[in-house]
Amino acid sequence: MSKDPFVMLPRDVVDRMLSAAGDSGDLTMTHLSSEDLYVVTRLALGSGARVQVDIPTEYQTLRWNGTDYAGQWFKQPSEHINLAHLELIRRPGSAVTFETFKTWVPGVHDPGNRIGLVITIDPKLTDEQRRARAREYAGWIVTRQAVHAIDVAVEPTHLGLPQLADQWPVDRLAQDTVMVVGLGSIGGAAAAQLAAMGIGQTIVVDPDRFLWHNEVRHVLDKRHVGRLKVDAMKTHLGDRWPEHRVLPVAADVVEAADLIRPLVPAADLILCAADGIAPRRVMSHLAKRAALPSVQACVLNDGGIGEVLRLRPGPRFGCLLCQRANLAAGGGIDPEADQELPYGTGLVHKPMTAIPTDLHLVGNLAAKVAAATLLEGKHGQLFSLPGEHAVIGLRAAQGLAAPFDVAAVGEVTWHGVAPPRPDCVTCNPA
Ligand SMILES: [Zn+2]
Repeated sequence: MSKDPFVMLPRDVVDRMLSAAGDSGDLTMTHLSSEDLYVVTRLALGSGARVQVDIPTEYQTLRWNGTDYAGQWFKQPSEHINLAHLELIRRPGSAVTFETFKTWVPGVHDPGNRIGLVITIDPKLTDEQRRARAREYAGWIVTRQAVHAIDVAVEPTHLGLPQLADQWPVDRLAQDTVMVVGLGSIGGAAAAQLAAMGIGQTIVVDPDRFLWHNEVRHVLDKRHVGRLKVDAMKTHLGDRWPEHRVLPVAADVVEAADLIRPLVPAADLILCAADGIAPRRVMSHLAKRAALPSVQACVLNDGGIGEVLRLRPGPRFGCLLCQRANLAAGGGIDPEADQELPYGTGLVHKPMTAIPTDLHLVGNLAAKVAAATLLEGKHGQLFSLPGEHAVIGLRAAQGLAAPFDVAAVGEVTWHGVAPPRPDCVTCNPA
């Protein structure tokens, strides 16, 4: 089955047509034969000379060199022409004669032995006609034998995060800053999703470089091998979500705690995806002391379990160590303690044992938990979670004790958290 030809109208074309004094003009469409795609690349207003259309460099396909075709544009050359276009589009293969088309668009040039392209604009369509999918911008392929209707894609006025505004509180999240500690595969995925949800700023903290062995699991790609992960993420997020601001901090939170501590109050929430026990404990402590919520994300049991743990400020919620002590006291496994044993057989954090899909799943859930926490806490919106501690099954039937006893892949169980221990120095500052 062959694809249908298609016309793309960059915003610059639309803006120039709409602000033109006249109602018609010439244009040039560049045809990319591999895609059977026409892009309007030059435009004349009235009888003036054609000017180059401004197409941003990142739209590489739209800027490809191809074969140029002459075309014309008309604003409302006749009543209901774009409704006629709708009728033709609905019946694939249908066409009208050039003579008929000339009565609809009296100024159309005779295409001779070539093909001509025409864009007709009807700004006066009613809402009902638009709902019926009549197009404000309609495309026509004109030959002496027949005139066919083709689809035109118009670049919208608003691109990027403002497009989400009707479904998601991007305006509120734009005010927020999240500190992301650890830019491994989980932290990288989490940072990308925080930006995608419209979080205004991330402070990304990681001492390491992005190396060859990281590439298979990471949101970063080959271009960034050799760079500091924090700088590479700043580039990556800036390319993808230009509204998002990134403050890169190339530091280890354990060795440089004095550097990190003054940055913490600038954040509204801390998301810790570091894979060692020590940085997780440091961030739990710093968040609790700064009265900030934090989200800890990791994989356990050789990539068999994902975990997202929300730690909240206030007297009812214990810190990371209080949670782990509570698990151990209940006869369960304390993942943090086990990892310190040289030959521990417990649920150690070993992210390099998990596949990229699982690491990104955990990172994405951590980002969503972070956003929900900000929306409910700081912005007073209803974004409740089922609990504070999510355990995600990444492999089936691992035979672990509760709360890590998920039976199947894709199973997510939610649990509460323990209150502070009376002797906890993080939860009970002297
Ligand atoms: Zn505590």
